[in-house]
Amino acid sequence: MVSQNPDKPLTESGRLRQSVTRLQRQTEQLSRILELSQQLTSTLELQPLLQEIIRAAAELTDTEAASIMLYDENAGELRFAAITNVAQEQLTRIRVPIEGSVAGVIWKTGQPMLVTDAYRDPRHYDGTDQATRFQTRNILGVPLAYKDRNIGVLEALNKCGDEPFTEEDTRLLCALASQAAVAIQNAQLVGALQQAYQKLNQLDTLKSDFIAIASHELRTPLAIVLGYASMLKDTTSGPTADQLEVVVQAALRLRGLIEEMVNLSHLDAGETVLELAAFPIQELVFTVCTEVDSLATAKGQTISLHVPPDPLPIKADRSQITIVLNNLLTNAIKFTAPGGRIAVSAEQHGSEAWIAVTDSGIGIPASDLERIFEPFYQVEPHMNRRHGGLGLGLSIARGLIGLHSGRIWAESVVGKGSRFTFTLPTSQ
Ligand code: ADP
Repeated sequence: MVSQNPDKPLTESGRLRQSVTRLQRQTEQLSRILELSQQLTSTLELQPLLQEIIRAAAELTDTEAASIMLYDENAGELRFAAITNVAQEQLTRIRVPIEGSVAGVIWKTGQPMLVTDAYRDPRHYDGTDQATRFQTRNILGVPLAYKDRNIGVLEALNKCGDEPFTEEDTRLLCALASQAAVAIQNAQLVGALQQAYQKLNQLDTLKSDFIAIASHELRTPLAIVLGYASMLKDTTSGPTADQLEVVVQAALRLRGLIEEMVNLSHLDAGETVLELAAFPIQELVFTVCTEVDSLATAKGQTISLHVPPDPLPIKADRSQITIVLNNLLTNAIKFTAPGGRIAVSAEQHGSEAWIAVTDSGIGIPASDLERIFEPFYQVEPHMNRRHGGLGLGLSIARGLIGLHSGRIWAESVVGKGSRFTFTLPTSQ
C-alpha cells in the first residue's frame, strides 16, 4: 500500500475518508465513555469505584497508569485515593501538598494540565514516585469537579510508547472526570449514610442496654423503699401517716415508670412471651375501667362503656392486653381537661374485635399520629411539658398488639379529642 505523503494536499475523497474515520473513532470513544459512565454510576462502593475509574482513565488515554487524589477538607490537602498497582494501605500514607504539586495547581485552577517532562518540571512533586517506586515521565491531569467544587484530581501517567498526549486525550479524560466526580460523590454519600446508620444502630443498642440495666437496678431499691414506707404508714397515724402516704404514692408512680421500661426492654429483646387464653373482652374492659375510674373521677371526667350484650370472646394474653388498655385509658384521662368525656367501646368486625378509647381531650396534630407510637416520642416538647410520663406507653401498646397479630392506630382532631383503636383476633 502506498502511504499518503503528508505534504501533498488531500483530494476531496481523501478528506472525506479522513473525516469519516475521525467521526467513527469519536463515536466509538463516546459510546465507550457512555458505557463507562453507566458502570461508574452503578458502583456505589467507593474503593471498587475508584479502581474502575483509574482503569478507565488509563484505557482511554492509552497510558501506563492513572491516579486519583481527593481533597480532604479536614486536613486541607490532597490525598491519594487510588493509583494503578499500588495497594490501598500504602496510599493513605502519601499526601500531596497543594503548593508545589501539579495536582495542587489543577485542583486550585480547575483547569486540565499537561506535563511533558516530569523529571525536569519544577511543578512536579516527586514525593509520590519515591513512595510508590513508580517513575512518572509525563502527566495529563484534570480536575474532578462536582457542582462548582473541585473534589479532587484525576491524572493519567506515562503515555504508552512515549507518544505526546493529544487534545483528544484531554477531552476524553475531562469527560470521564465529570462522570467520575458524580459517581465518587454518590459513593461517598452512600458511605456516609451507611456509617450514620451503623452509628444509629449502635446508639439504639446502647439505649436498649441502658434501659434494661437501669430498670433492673432501680427495681430492687424501690421495692425496699415502697415496702418500708407502706409498713411505716400502716403503723403510724396523724400527719406522719399522711406524709408517708405521699412517699408511697410517689414510689408507686416510680414503680409504674420502671415497669414501662422493663416492658419495653423485654419487647425490644424479643423476650415477651404471650400466654394466650380465650375470654370475653367485656371482662377485661370492665376490670381496667374500674381500676382507672378513681383517676377519672378525681378530674371530674366520666367513662362510658359501649360493649355488646353478648360475650365477645378474644384470644389474647390477658395481662398484656390489660397493659395496653390501661395505657390508652390513662392517656385519655391525662390529656383530657377536667369534666371531659371518655368512652370505651368493643365491637366485632369479622374475625376481629375492635376495641376503641375515645376522649374529648386536647387532640393530636395529624403529623404526630404515627410518631407517637415511637419510643420516647411525646407531642409536647420535653422542656415545657405539663404532663408526666416517659413516652413509652404507646410504643409498648403497639409492640404488644403486634405480638397478637393485631393493629393499633390513632385518629384525632386537635382541640376536639382523639380515638385509639386496636384489633385482636376473636377466639371463634
Ligand atoms: P406518655 O403518655 O408517657 O407521654 P405515650 O407513649 O403513652 O407516652 O404517649 C406518647 C404521646 O402521645 C404523649 O406524650 C402525648 O403527647 C400523645 N398522646 C397519647 N395519648 C393521647 C391522647 N389521648 N390525647 C392527646 N395526646 C395523646
